[in-house]
Amino acid sequence: MAVINQDNLTMVITKEVERVQVTDIHTHLYPPGFGDMFLYGIDELLTYHYLIAEFFRYATMDYEKFFSLSKMQQAELIYQTLFIKHSPVSEAQRGVLTVLKELGLDVNKRDLRVFREQISIIPVMEYVNRIFALAGVKEVIMTNDPFDSTERQWWEKVGNKDPRFKAALRLDPLLNDYEKNYKELIKLGYRVDRCLDENTISEIKRYLKDWVKKINAVYMAVSLPPDFTVPEDSYCSRILELCVLPICKEVKIPLALMIGVKRSVNPYLGLAADSLGKADIRSIEYLCRTYPENKFLVTMLSKENQHELVVTARKFRNLMVFGCWWFLNNPDMVKEITSMRLDTLGLSFIPQHSDARVLEHLIYKWVHFRKIIAGVLTKKYQLLLENGWRVTEEEIKRDIEDLFSNNFWNFVGRNS
Ligand SMILES: [Zn+2]
Repeated sequence: MAVINQDNLTMVITKEVERVQVTDIHTHLYPPGFGDMFLYGIDELLTYHYLIAEFFRYATMDYEKFFSLSKMQQAELIYQTLFIKHSPVSEAQRGVLTVLKELGLDVNKRDLRVFREQISIIPVMEYVNRIFALAGVKEVIMTNDPFDSTERQWWEKVGNKDPRFKAALRLDPLLNDYEKNYKELIKLGYRVDRCLDENTISEIKRYLKDWVKKINAVYMAVSLPPDFTVPEDSYCSRILELCVLPICKEVKIPLALMIGVKRSVNPYLGLAADSLGKADIRSIEYLCRTYPENKFLVTMLSKENQHELVVTARKFRNLMVFGCWWFLNNPDMVKEITSMRLDTLGLSFIPQHSDARVLEHLIYKWVHFRKIIAGVLTKKYQLLLENGWRVTEEEIKRDIEDLFSNNFWNFVGRNS
C-alpha cells in the first residue's frame, strides 16, 4: 500500500480520477434501442440547445427561419458562426472540440463534412461502447416521461435492453401542469379528476407505482421553478405531499428535486428558452424535516442557492446534494462549488452529473470535470498531509469511487 507524500500526491489523485468509472446520475440520454430518441453524432452535438442560444448571440437571422432549416443546415450555420467566425471559447463550444479530440479526429481540419464522415463509418454499437469507454462512464440514469407518447411507445413495445441505461420517472407534467395534463392520465387508464379528491389521489398513486415498476425507476424526479413552494395550496405541492412522497417511501426510492428553472423566458428559442432564478431553501427544509423517511436528491440552478443548500445538507441526512447543473457547469463555478462542498460536507455528496442530451456529451462533461475535481481534491489532501495525516493510495481510490458512484448507490439503497 503506497504511502502518499507531497511529491506523488498530484499524480496519484490524477490517476485515480482518470480511472474511476462514473455513475452519471442525471442525463437525457436514451438507449440505442429507442430509435430516434437516441441522439448522437456531430449534427446533434452542434444543435445542442446550449449552442443554439450561443449562436443567436451573434446571428441576426429570424428564429423561425433557423428552426425551419434541416438539422444539418442548422449545424452548419452554428459551426460557421461559433467555430469559424469566432473562437469557440465558451464551455459548451469547447466541449465540441473535446469530443472531436477524444474521438481522435483532427479538429484543425475545420471541416464539418469530414467530421460527419469519420463518425458515420463507425458501426453504432461499437460507437456507443467507445463513447462510454472514452468518458469512463459505466452507467447513466435517464429522464423518463410516460406522458410523452413517443417515449411511452418504446417502453410498451420494446422496453430497455441495455443495462447501462437506468430509468428515472420524470414527474414534470404531473406536478407542474396537472390542470392541463390530468386528461393524459385518463388516456393512460387512470380514473382521475381535475380536483384532487380521494379517488384521484389513489389513482395518481397507482400510476406512479405502475410506472416505477414498469421502467424499474431508480428514483422519481422533477424540475421546478424558482418560486416552488411546499406546503401550499397548489396542485404541485398537494400532489407531491399526497401522492409522490408516500409512493417514494413505499417503494423505497428517492425523489430528485431540480430547483430554479424559469421556463421559456424567450419562447422563440425552443429548448434553449429557459433561464433561472433563485429559489427559497425553506421548501427543502420543510420536506426534509417533515418526511424524515423520504430521501431527497437535490440540485439547484442558481449560484446564489449553493451555499445555503450545502448548509441544509448538514442538517438533514435524508438530503443528498448533487451536480453542478446546467448554467452552473462552467469551470470556475464548478471549481468553487466543489471546493465549498468538500469543505462543508466532506465527501458526502455527489459532485457532478452530465445532463447529457447527446451521447458524446458524456465525453466532454466528464473529461472537463475530472480535470477540475482532480485539482480541487489535490488541495484538500495536501492540507491533510500538512497536518501530518498519512493517506494511502487505497484511501484516495475509495474516496474518489464514493464521489463518482458509491455515494449515489448507497443513498438509493441499491447496488450498482
Ligand atoms: Zn436535465
